[in-house]
Amino acid sequence: MPALDEILRERLEWLDEQQLRRRPRQSWRQTASEIIRDGKRFISFSCNDYLGLSHHPDVMQAAVDATGTYGAGAGASRLITGEHPLYAELEQALAEWQGVEAACVFGSGYLANLGTITALMEKDDLILADRLAHACMIDGARLSGSAFKRFAHNDIAHLESLLKAHRAAHRHCLILTESVFSMDGDRAPLAELAALAKAYDAWLLVDGAHEIDKHHPERSEGSRASDGDPSPLAQNDRNIVVGTLSKTLGSYGGYVCGSKMLVEYLKSTARPLIFTTALPPGVIAGALAALAVLRVHPEWAAAPLEKAQLFTERAGLPAAQSAIVPVVLGEAEAALSASRLLEAEGFLVSAIRPPTVPLGTSRLRLTFCTQHQDADIERVAVMVRKIRGQ
Ligand SMILES: *Cc1c(COP(=O)(O)O)cnc(C)c1O
Repeated sequence: MPALDEILRERLEWLDEQQLRRRPRQSWRQTASEIIRDGKRFISFSCNDYLGLSHHPDVMQAAVDATGTYGAGAGASRLITGEHPLYAELEQALAEWQGVEAACVFGSGYLANLGTITALMEKDDLILADRLAHACMIDGARLSGSAFKRFAHNDIAHLESLLKAHRAAHRHCLILTESVFSMDGDRAPLAELAALAKAYDAWLLVDGAHEIDKHHPERSEGSRASDGDPSPLAQNDRNIVVGTLSKTLGSYGGYVCGSKMLVEYLKSTARPLIFTTALPPGVIAGALAALAVLRVHPEWAAAPLEKAQLFTERAGLPAAQSAIVPVVLGEAEAALSASRLLEAEGFLVSAIRPPTVPLGTSRLRLTFCTQHQDADIERVAVMVRKIRGQ
């Protein structure tokens, strides 16, 4: 038998041939919107730190203070001795922010999705996921052992046909979607999904990792039933919202929002919560401080969408629905060379290729944050116009 390294070299060569080899590039963030790479400074349109809270002085100081007082690591899992009092404070603050009964913090957004899906779903059950749902939901669905099918992106009619055909043969059914899709920046029709879940006695899990405005997927423009109506997700106890502490809140970790019963149940059954070390106190304190900043400045949450819309207007693209804007260019090489062109002008804009996105839809993906200067956005928009041949 060949040695392990020999086998791995062959596999890596195959990945190289398929243009699938990934090489992380050393980078560090100087401010919310500026990155240093290879000794050069870039304006980044590739971070998910939408409000720049990772670099807010209060957030940084809170992380430093908690680390100085309580140490760098948690020492054990939450269920052993890692349940620092800051956890209860953070879960209370998250529940209040989201307007739900309770929240449960996980080690990351990835683990929150994986842990919730596998805790709820078993072999006899059915999971239906949007075609573009994030990898961590797909991994959770596979690990659960449930029957698993995907519906066409945001296609309510296709989802309903799957429910009609398959729901009755299974005990429980869970529908998976994102509120803002991470590679496309568009929004799920949450009111319609919630109504369909109710009609077919299914549960609905919405990943709100890229929500900014109060982090309420159900309050988002375009998915609100109508002003003044109760939120489509809060109306009943079949809906679950998952979020991350690592994007809008600038820290690290993930969380699940729902009823007290759901949170109680997850703490006893979600394996990615039970069998992993608790978050470091400094990380929890950072997220708490970020929530405190947002309470004082709720108006900040509107800026990333406004910046994204300034960009789409100037670049001649359809109006942005969120802080994420895709510029689809087609072949991987087109996206890569566009990214290099922008890099030469001092802008970091990531090229996204298959398998992250479907074949033939390679793209630039831009994310906008509160700290972006309008002049920089306008310069990038002019370049994108040129790249698209306009
Ligand atoms: C980033 C992301 C996650 C993972 O969150 P982490 O806290 O980074 O693990 C989950 N779902 C979606 C849609 C995301 O974009």
